[in-house]
Amino acid sequence: MVLLRFAPSPTGPLHLGGLRMALYNHLFAKKHGGRWILRIEDTDSSRLVPGSVEGIQKALDWAGLEYDYGPGRDSQYGPYFQTERLELYRSYAKKLLESGHAYRCFCSADKLTSIRERLARAGSNSTYDKSCVHITDEESARKARAGEKFVVRVNDSLPPSRPPAVDLVFGHLKDAHASLSTDPVLLKSDSFPTYHLASVVDDHEMQITHVLRGEEWITSFPLHLDIYAHLGLTPPKFAHIPILLNPDGTKMSKRKGDVQVVDYMRRGWEPDAVLNWLALAGWGVTHEETSPESTSRTHLKDAPDSTAVMSLPELIKSFDISVLTQRSSGLDVSKLEYINKHHLALAWATDEGMDVLAQRAHIHVKEAFPHSQYTTIDNIKSAIRALEGRLTNIQDIPRLAPFLFVEPDLASDEAQKMLAVMPNVQDRSRMLQVLRDVVDTQVNDWRSDIVFSIFQEQLQAAGLPRKAFLKVLRAYLTGMKDGPPLADILTVLGPERTRTRLSQSTM
Ligand code: GLU
Repeated sequence: MVLLRFAPSPTGPLHLGGLRMALYNHLFAKKHGGRWILRIEDTDSSRLVPGSVEGIQKALDWAGLEYDYGPGRDSQYGPYFQTERLELYRSYAKKLLESGHAYRCFCSADKLTSIRERLARAGSNSTYDKSCVHITDEESARKARAGEKFVVRVNDSLPPSRPPAVDLVFGHLKDAHASLSTDPVLLKSDSFPTYHLASVVDDHEMQITHVLRGEEWITSFPLHLDIYAHLGLTPPKFAHIPILLNPDGTKMSKRKGDVQVVDYMRRGWEPDAVLNWLALAGWGVTHEETSPESTSRTHLKDAPDSTAVMSLPELIKSFDISVLTQRSSGLDVSKLEYINKHHLALAWATDEGMDVLAQRAHIHVKEAFPHSQYTTIDNIKSAIRALEGRLTNIQDIPRLAPFLFVEPDLASDEAQKMLAVMPNVQDRSRMLQVLRDVVDTQVNDWRSDIVFSIFQEQLQAAGLPRKAFLKVLRAYLTGMKDGPPLADILTVLGPERTRTRLSQSTM
């Protein structure tokens, strides 16, 4: 079975980059009939932020990315918190010590710094002089027993036989080992594992078949392959995913806009739209596929462009790791607006989708108009329907159509300008009278398009200027010059509220 894992460190709220990583894991797993694990990499206690795990779970839940195994779910591959697996890492470190592929290093931090400086001065690329590799096994065991502090380092003087390092996105990595530090640490002096040891052990123990992780780990990839080889284990396949950037190519940061998933949750974006947007950032190109063994171009892969509107099942169906770009991708919020608008239209096309939308919109509308009696789910559904084509984000409902929930402000400049097209106040009050009469006759037959055409007929019969009518009626009903078609507004308001608004004094 294809089995993947999303392995965040609980160091704060989930970022968009993290959500995209979870999404790619989900897409790959589901595309291949597989599953995925949520694993919490919490071994670095200095970076832990309380509440992060709950935040990550909440964000995944909002996005509809349901992990198959992980905290609170099936325990088959657990435990899922690395701090609950410490014995396992230590047992693997022990195996490596016993086979000579790792050794204890007793150098103090100060000593390591001076070694590093000396090596750098001498123009060496090494980061450690391997002095402790020469300590005999007996001596090393004795020092450890005596309580001397040590770390466990991988011994790269005994390199394993190395098959080519092949990445599913970046292809064959040449000279992959050149950038590794000297004998990297596997177990720290507090006997907690480093990321390198913990991730290799867990990916093996959890039977992970494919590792999709951030590009920042590509430099550690050869080390991880070595650890697998030292342990005599078959590594999973790896895909390193290029990072997300701002559209101008700069690093995404809080200062430059929303980078946390919780911001997108708060701002009313559709979860499916956010997934669609994230999936296609970095995917949306036609890409020349290169075969892993050679650099020759084999054929062109078609990929959707970055604003294609796709549901999660469609993303799963089209996902293909070979169309991911090797370049970092810019995230452009204007694309999200476009995609979101289309996802809204998809959602309100079904009763179920409309229910979900209305429930979520309710929170925003209620917040904007806490005292309105019209913030009912039914009314919100009507508002969403009336705003069809204008709504980019459900959070905009209160701004685009406040008049559906509270009385319009006829004293505003905007309303006054609209009313000024019919400067004669007597004409206005005659017009309102005609309209009220129509409302009274139609109370029990409130079909807005019919009401609206009777309005027009009656005004004509009364010899009132038809041209100004639309603007003035809109002013009385909404106080705003832009908005949904008047017939739709009549539907949402219904006869009673319409009549009240037409009973205003003609100011
Ligand atoms: N815990 C690592 C991180 O949050 C995950 C790396 C991985 O996926 O292997 O960056």
